[in-house]
Amino acid sequence: MVLKLDHIGVAVSNMEESLKLYTELLGLELHGTEVVEEQKVKVAFLPVGDTEIELLESTSPDGPVAKFIESRGQGVQHLAFNVENIEEALAKMKEQGVRLIDEVPRYGAGGAKIAFLHPKATGGVLIELCQRG
Ligand code: ZN
Repeated sequence: MVLKLDHIGVAVSNMEESLKLYTELLGLELHGTEVVEEQKVKVAFLPVGDTEIELLESTSPDGPVAKFIESRGQGVQHLAFNVENIEEALAKMKEQGVRLIDEVPRYGAGGAKIAFLHPKATGGVLIELCQRG
């Protein structure tokens, strides 16, 4: 069902500082940034091989990324798996009784269709399903 690891979402409190680490120290290339208003987050895309690091900086103190940092500190926030058909994948999860955050997909960064599974159902890892194109 999963095609590949689409990206790893990393919550950061200072985008500029974190970008320096990933571009200057690790030599990754910044492939643009985007603000996702609905999620109150600024996203920076850094491809690495077949996947991507997504740096997430909250644009508001009450956004989900700000809340994540408040309770758990900066760091890996979610894993995103690329699926062929997100509706099908969600239906399968529901059938298996997996608790979902998003019952229906919504649009995330880069116009991808995304949906989150509840971390309580996935051993504490916030998992995003993501369908592109
Ligand atoms: Zn993501």
